[in-house]
Amino acid sequence: ADANSSPHVVVVSSPGLGHITPFVELTKLLVLRHHFTATIITFSDLPFSLPSSISTIQLPVLELPADTDIGVRISLTMANSVSPLRQILISLQQTTRIAAVIFDLFGVDHLSMVKELHIPTYLFLTSNLFFLSFKLHLPALDESTVGEFRDLPEPLKLPGCVPLKGVDFLSPLQKRESETCAIVVHGARKYNNVDGILVNSFEALEAGAAKFLKQRGGGKPPVWPIGPLTASDSDMWYEDHSHDCIEWLNRHPSGSVIFICFGSGGALSWEQTRELALGLEMSEQRFLWVVRAACDTGLSGSFFNPNQSRDDPMEFLPEGFVENTKERGMTVMSWAPQRQVLGHNATGGFVSHCGWNSVLESLVNGVPIVAWPLYAEQKMNAVLLEEGAKVALRVKEGENGVVRREEVAKVVKELMEGEEGKQVRRGMQVMKKEAARAVGKEGSSYKALEELFLWFCSLLVAVGFPFSA
Ligand code: UDP
Repeated sequence: ADANSSPHVVVVSSPGLGHITPFVELTKLLVLRHHFTATIITFSDLPFSLPSSISTIQLPVLELPADTDIGVRISLTMANSVSPLRQILISLQQTTRIAAVIFDLFGVDHLSMVKELHIPTYLFLTSNLFFLSFKLHLPALDESTVGEFRDLPEPLKLPGCVPLKGVDFLSPLQKRESETCAIVVHGARKYNNVDGILVNSFEALEAGAAKFLKQRGGGKPPVWPIGPLTASDSDMWYEDHSHDCIEWLNRHPSGSVIFICFGSGGALSWEQTRELALGLEMSEQRFLWVVRAACDTGLSGSFFNPNQSRDDPMEFLPEGFVENTKERGMTVMSWAPQRQVLGHNATGGFVSHCGWNSVLESLVNGVPIVAWPLYAEQKMNAVLLEEGAKVALRVKEGENGVVRREEVAKVVKELMEGEEGKQVRRGMQVMKKEAARAVGKEGSSYKALEELFLWFCSLLVAVGFPFSA
């Protein structure tokens, strides 16, 4: 490698939009702020415009039966990519000095291959410190307990974190005998083998967990909270800037509309869609709802592709609903420009599935949340937001896991106008400022990224790379 060239980072993002966005933002910071060059490896087109010092390589997604679980699907695709990635790294090593390969949580099976090439490895968790604490503890918990986690007699108390009940553990762990549970536990065992872990969260949001995780030693890898990293404005190819819903929001008073959206993969059952509709009607609040075709697994099965045409989701709404609420409600089919909506002055609340990108987008815009978690680690996120950070109210599920219309109406109204809601709205305003401060110059996340950069450099110097930082 040319001794005078900039250090290079390789960033590997598993399939799914939720991971790609923060990975691209991280890479841009490393390149623009710290003059690295970089390669981003993905499994789909990258529709972003990138600085010229970032190259991209796209690996193929494994063809699998349509009903394959999403976690299994991503894991198998990643496992299948070990050998092509090895070739890529070897070829990059001819011309650059690779300071780091950064993976998301699905990259665990690549770690030993990368280590064999004498390249430091990192994980970037596009989630929070609570989630990381949980993952670090999971192998021990798995070994010391039998039976389903939801039957554990006590909530789990992780250092600096709010207590977590077994029912709120991430969804793949809800069936202990399942393949997805095995995948998650297997992955968690490898967290201690990496040279460091980056997390898309910030200290003020999770002070207790941050304090504990930032202590060095005890066999833990170093941890750097570097968030919130959310997509920057020019990036999203699918955002139609003249979207009707923005026009609609323009006509409503400040902070008066609640936005309802369940991320790129979330869908509700037919019955749940109906209860939500009737609940919104009862709440008498202004609302903007991104309606998806109903499905009975809580996941729409594949990650949502906004360019793909789908069933007409409006068929799933109760008769008369659109007509009855037309003065104060708007429904949007399948996809809305979420970041623009959350940044709009008229938006005063967000009913969210608590996907971590959605949460961060809400935090940076100071929009209080009604937490309605569906799958993955969303229930843990809801616990963190409601009980830890106190920036959300969580819906209560009734019989058969369905949130009834009365509950929808109650919690939506509370968030927008109630006393408890007022605390949450205030808490969110504070957190909005903290989020901006964290990534601003000399903020905790800003400094963590500097530290990370120095750490990358010190590891390179240790193996004889002669450059001045
Ligand atoms: N998103 C959007 N419009 C929609 C649904 C989702 O722009 O109608 C964006 C949202 O802003 C976020 C991402 O898609 O950036 C969803 O990521 P998140 O982590 O919240 O949830 P996931 O889709 O991974 O469950």
